[in-house]
Amino acid sequence: MEKTPLETWILSRIRSSRSCPALTPTEITSYQFEKVKETVAFARDNSPFYRRLLKDFPGSCISRWEDFSKFPFTYPRDLEEKGEEFLCVSQSSIERVITLSVTGKTARPRRVFFTEKDLELTIDFFHYGMSGLVKPGQRVLILMPGDRPGSIGDLLARALNRMSVMGIVHGIVVDPATTVREIVRKEIDCLVGIPTQVLALARHEDSRFIPKKALKSVLLSSDYVPGIIVKELEDIWGCKVFNHYGTTETGLGGGVECEALSGYHLREADLYFEIVDPSTGQPQPLGNFGEIVFTTLTRKGTPLIRYRTGDLSRMMTGQCPCGTVLKRMDKIHGRLGESVEIGASLWLSITQLDEAIFNIPRVTDYKAIINTESDVDRLHFFVRTASDDAYSTLEAVYNTVRQIPVIREAMSKGSLGLAPVLLRAENWSAGTAVKRRIDDRRPLAGAQRFRLDVPT
Ligand SMILES: [Zn+2]
Repeated sequence: MEKTPLETWILSRIRSSRSCPALTPTEITSYQFEKVKETVAFARDNSPFYRRLLKDFPGSCISRWEDFSKFPFTYPRDLEEKGEEFLCVSQSSIERVITLSVTGKTARPRRVFFTEKDLELTIDFFHYGMSGLVKPGQRVLILMPGDRPGSIGDLLARALNRMSVMGIVHGIVVDPATTVREIVRKEIDCLVGIPTQVLALARHEDSRFIPKKALKSVLLSSDYVPGIIVKELEDIWGCKVFNHYGTTETGLGGGVECEALSGYHLREADLYFEIVDPSTGQPQPLGNFGEIVFTTLTRKGTPLIRYRTGDLSRMMTGQCPCGTVLKRMDKIHGRLGESVEIGASLWLSITQLDEAIFNIPRVTDYKAIINTESDVDRLHFFVRTASDDAYSTLEAVYNTVRQIPVIREAMSKGSLGLAPVLLRAENWSAGTAVKRRIDDRRPLAGAQRFRLDVPT
């Protein structure tokens, strides 16, 4: 098994700023420590937001990691409310602004700014990260937006070009049949896409024209990847399925699995990750689940300090089978506050639904909504299917969902009803950029309905 290529990448990055004879966890930590101090000083000097937030926290007061763990957090709502105040360089230095659509009635868009150098660092990470999946001469079909310079598809194609791999930007899948034809015609070796979109290709009836093992690898990029989708792609195509963790805030790239497929190796030259208890904000002991928090180490446009992602995971103990000295973060377990209450002490998450519903053959995507009708909460499902016999799929979803233990219990207690499952009719690609969640439309939806999900 080959060692993660990120090891070479991090070593070269550390050596570009200091001497480092060999890569060790201590060397990485001490590099990150210096970079954290630089980021704090840079952000305080240049960003109105951080000048205010960190007025009592100068970089000079950090002499140990414990000092930094007392620094205040940055929240997504800060970016939504004061996005421009994060900007640390002149507007003319900004190469790209990524605006995230945020769900919710009152939420404002979340804007993250990148300079040309910031984008170059993302390309560099993609370059090394992808070299664990593809070899020179291979072809990668990128099922992500790539029309504009600086978009994720564009950056990835540029990264692949550096290793003599052809990156073909296809964009979001609009018609699975067309995309499957393109995979066959262009003799694609690797796909990069959003989990539900790639699943829809695999389950499309024309997928049988893709010879087994023609696709050597698939990279699923998202904040969270349902395990059942990974297994299905491996079964149908006979390929390796790698997960990538990244968000706009991390600078698109964040961490990627090595051949061992056993947790993410992280973009540690550019990002410092912490796992904290979501209710107290205290660092979690190694191996315990909590909320992922990160600090950018090199970004100039919108540096972020102790940014609360809302994603749940843990740092893994023990060495990766690939033999690297790099740490590993476990697969994303879900999102903070994603569970909705469906009865007294009964909670339902999109993760539970995903693992059950995507297990049904021919389901390619679905949307879940909960509302209140005649004082009773009611769950609605809108399903996409690759089957000609849609009725049988809808029936299978209804029967599967009813058997999920918390739903069965809530229904038996009369606190939850299940509406007939319907076909999802809207445009195929709609909604793929939005984080998966149960759409809670009940009058009391909000803080009082949410709980902090910390897996034990
Ligand atoms: Zn590894």
